[in-house]
Amino acid sequence: MEWETVIGLEIHVQLATNTKIFSGASTAFGAEPNTQACAVDLALPGTLPVFNDGAQKMAIMFGLAINAEIGKRAVFERKNYFYPDLPKGYQTTQLEAPIVGEGYVDIETEDGERRVRIHHAHLEEDAGKSLHEDFHGQSGIDLNRAGTPLVEIVSEPDMRTSKEAAAYARKIHAIVTNLGICDGNMAEGSMRCDCNVSIRPKGSDTLGTRTELKNINSFRFIERAIDTEVERQIDLIEDGGTVVQETRLYDPDKNETRSMRSKEDANDYRYFPCPDLLPVVVDDAYVEAIRLTLPELPDARKERFISELALSEYDAGVLSAYRNQADYFESVVECCGDAKLAANWVMGELAKNLNAADLSIDNSPVSAEQLGGLLVRIKDNTISGNIAKKVFEIQWNEGGTADEVIEAKGLKQVTDTGAIETMIDEVIANATAQVEQYKAAEPEKRGKMLGFFMGQVMKASGGKANPGAVTGILKSKLDALCD
Ligand code: ADP
Ligand code: MG
Repeated sequence: MEWETVIGLEIHVQLATNTKIFSGASTAFGAEPNTQACAVDLALPGTLPVFNDGAQKMAIMFGLAINAEIGKRAVFERKNYFYPDLPKGYQTTQLEAPIVGEGYVDIETEDGERRVRIHHAHLEEDAGKSLHEDFHGQSGIDLNRAGTPLVEIVSEPDMRTSKEAAAYARKIHAIVTNLGICDGNMAEGSMRCDCNVSIRPKGSDTLGTRTELKNINSFRFIERAIDTEVERQIDLIEDGGTVVQETRLYDPDKNETRSMRSKEDANDYRYFPCPDLLPVVVDDAYVEAIRLTLPELPDARKERFISELALSEYDAGVLSAYRNQADYFESVVECCGDAKLAANWVMGELAKNLNAADLSIDNSPVSAEQLGGLLVRIKDNTISGNIAKKVFEIQWNEGGTADEVIEAKGLKQVTDTGAIETMIDEVIANATAQVEQYKAAEPEKRGKMLGFFMGQVMKASGGKANPGAVTGILKSKLDALCD
């Protein structure tokens, strides 16, 4: 039987507010445990939550970015359950009246563009964290994260492959980071995905029973976890079994999914509107004012990179996905006036070095202005592309503008034809065997043989001879020998 995979994602995005959603405690990552949980976060008796309107504004920005209807009267509800990392005994969330209604995003797939519908997105608070390391036979609780604002983005089950699911997650990541409402740091848990996965016979239009893979925090793991789970479900069904609706955990080390809890012991959360918080009422004027503040989004930026800067679809896609990278790229273009050259360097030499040093582009040792200045010197023939790599490496390690490095290290390209001719004469004089071969070759095969001489001349010049000038002079000198 041929099977079709059906996937829906629930993505938790931590909002980049300075303080928590209902208290004034800091949301900064990495502090000593329990130093950023105040009386409200700890649910001490007599405390009352105060809604952070920064979180509201960010959620509305997200809603506008996915073309959604904004909930004009959002209601906070209590989702009641017990867990050690939840001192209040309930999570404040939204259920019936979320702040963001139906919307959609478009993703690129192997078969072209595909629309993924978003059912809704709601505001809620994050829970604390249980710490198992460093505690023998016990668990520690860190409540720093308790009360960090989240938007939970719930997709329709519109994805059909693990690649599409990862593409969708990437698109959401690009949107929230471009909006500046999330730092996007997945390793620190700023964006976490629950993947709902089911299979059905190809052609069927009823949904199969799904399992939910919890808290996946990398795009690669989204793909691997779904592929692994789909394989498990197919094997199970083809062996005569049935899929049970349950929550499963993906173990990247073993590349397997394991049952965490089944729907049977699912809680009845006893949702009810939180009596401590008023409904969040917004009017059109407020929403429209926020719309005016929206930055250019990745899709629009990509289109502009294609139409205005004549980048390829691929380059435009890569360079528009991350705001910092897109901003950096645009600054380089501004400095050097050549989008294609800038794209090649940002996606090539720069990205290679950043990856190797595990640095984000914000912390690049070579600034956009420094790189732009370097590219200017390639364009005006002061240096060749190869020497430029050398200059870049020196800028990376020691700093400085391109002009300073070129001057200090004497890397200026030799364009003086007299000097080039001298070098060529020397190379020809020392390569009698190759010259004889050149002369003996069919005229149309000689072009290929130029490479050897080119290499020798470039070596003799320390890479500084202008390649265009060398080719021209070399060819005419060698051909003159053939007559
Ligand atoms: P619940 O309210 O029980 O959490 P929802 O209907 O809200 O369930 O769905 C949660 C997520 O699961 C959504 O992202 C949805 O697209 C996805 N989903 C629902 N049914 C299926 C299914 N049969 N296969 C894959 N994903 C599904
Ligand atoms: Mg759900």
